[in-house]
Amino acid sequence: MAKKAIVIGSGFGGLAASLRLKAKGYEVTIIEKHPDLGGRARVFKKDDFTYDGGPTVVTAPYLFEELFTLFNKKVSDYVKIIPLDLWYRFVFNDGETFDYNGNDRSMEEQVKKFSSKDYDGYKKLVSFTEKIFDKGFSDLSDKPFNNLVFMMKQIPSLLKLKSYKSVYSLVSNYISNEKLRRVFSMHPLLVGGNPFSTTSIYTLILFLEKKWGIHYSMGGTGSVVKALEKLMVEENIKIIKSAEVTEILTNDKKVTGIKINNSKIINCDYVICNSDPPNVYNNLIKSKNNYNFLFKQKMKRMDYSMGLFVYYFGSKKKYDSVAHHTIYFGKSYKEHLHKIFEKKILSEDISFYLHRPSATDQSMAPNGKDAFYVLVPVPNNLSKINWIKEGDKFKNLVLDKMDETVLPGIKKNVVSDFYLTPDYFEKDLATLYGSGFSIQPKFSQSAYFRFHNQSEIYKNLYFVGAGTHPGAGIPGVLSSAKVLDRLF
Ligand SMILES: Cc1cc2nc3c(=O)[nH]c(=O)nc-3n(C[C@H](O)[C@H](O)[C@H](O)COP(=O)(O)OP(=O)(O)OC[C@H]3O[C@@H](n4cnc5c(N)ncnc54)[C@H](O)[C@@H]3O)c2cc1C
Repeated sequence: MAKKAIVIGSGFGGLAASLRLKAKGYEVTIIEKHPDLGGRARVFKKDDFTYDGGPTVVTAPYLFEELFTLFNKKVSDYVKIIPLDLWYRFVFNDGETFDYNGNDRSMEEQVKKFSSKDYDGYKKLVSFTEKIFDKGFSDLSDKPFNNLVFMMKQIPSLLKLKSYKSVYSLVSNYISNEKLRRVFSMHPLLVGGNPFSTTSIYTLILFLEKKWGIHYSMGGTGSVVKALEKLMVEENIKIIKSAEVTEILTNDKKVTGIKINNSKIINCDYVICNSDPPNVYNNLIKSKNNYNFLFKQKMKRMDYSMGLFVYYFGSKKKYDSVAHHTIYFGKSYKEHLHKIFEKKILSEDISFYLHRPSATDQSMAPNGKDAFYVLVPVPNNLSKINWIKEGDKFKNLVLDKMDETVLPGIKKNVVSDFYLTPDYFEKDLATLYGSGFSIQPKFSQSAYFRFHNQSEIYKNLYFVGAGTHPGAGIPGVLSSAKVLDRLF
């Protein structure tokens, strides 16, 4: 008889894990507390506008293709994923713009527009990030880091790749122009880290984008979730929605099953958590008797990613000149990030990411209208900010800022809106302190030092998703399911 595996949570990590285990012959049940799948990639609909809740930039789409190939199927029969020509438009507070894409000639032009003497450095930076990518992504992103010996073996090559430097400091070795430094160092923010403290290993994202490009799935990222759900149904994976796992049952050093909504018990051979590890270890496992001193210290010392304020809105007119992906930099960078990550206070001088899917796909908004979301990094809930009080004020600040900069007149043109704060991430998505991306991607919280894919405490308890190796972002969480594959 097939062994029974239960997957808790249906983020991309959980969906990929379910499919990979099913392909290996396990009987798989996935349990999601919400009535819909996707986790951070859930879809919201309001007033005929469709909003992807979270991920919008699809990189390394082959990782989705692999999940369909497991069952001799093709992703293109389920969802249309297309490459974008313009990846991001960076807009600075003085109005200067940098168009970032995969075309070498255009990149040369853009870099030289800011500083011709930095072009050589830019090329050297790209070559160096290729080396980091080869080691950090191709070689290590899908390997289990469950034992210290394996970690120690990697240290010499990681040191050679200058992993002790921060992303900003590595980029600054090659580039002197401050605006270009921002453009090429902002990537850790996409996975919850401060460029000034995230290990330079994460510059691999720069090369990952270059290698595979930036993609969009027609109908929004939610259409990938739908495609995976369809595949799961076809492959007889049992999906239980609107059911919260309130306890993981344990017996000595093993887990034996789970409890749903404080009542129904389901026994199983393996539990795979896509629920955030700090939440699982703090709240879902009731007895802490098996946690040794070192593990307790590990839990205590973790630094969490920033929080996110996400404002979803539809406009009654189209903003044709606004790119699909815009990143706006406020006046300050280092000081602003320090306020978010260290001081944990709000600032008026905000930076943000603006998503306009209707630039590529009109199905996201009614004809003649645009659907948007703007994502603003803010402190996580360790800040004790009262979002019920501050939410509307902050929304107005964001609207004012967009009206003055990238979306003139937007205040008068919004016809539908709502927003999410770190409270949503904490309460609805069960992420400690409402962090947007689980724990930060620091060196001291990466690989062996992150929460292990096979639990440090219970042999038959596993983790996939942002809080385990290799980390947040779609390529990261899909890779975590590949690590799981190797462990089974
Ligand atoms: C606003 C935003 C924008 C982003 N943009 C991008 C992007 O453009 N590109 C990119 O690559 N990445 C992006 N990311 C990061 C990326 O979305 C995430 O890292 C990734 O989707 C997280 O997936 P996950 O597998 O960790 O699970 P999650 O998406 O975190 O899902 C976990 C699931 O577990 C469920 N759950 C938790 N506890 C329980 C329980 N006890 N019982 C039942 N269910 C439970 C939750 O309800 C949730 O559905 C973005 C993130 C956010 C928030």
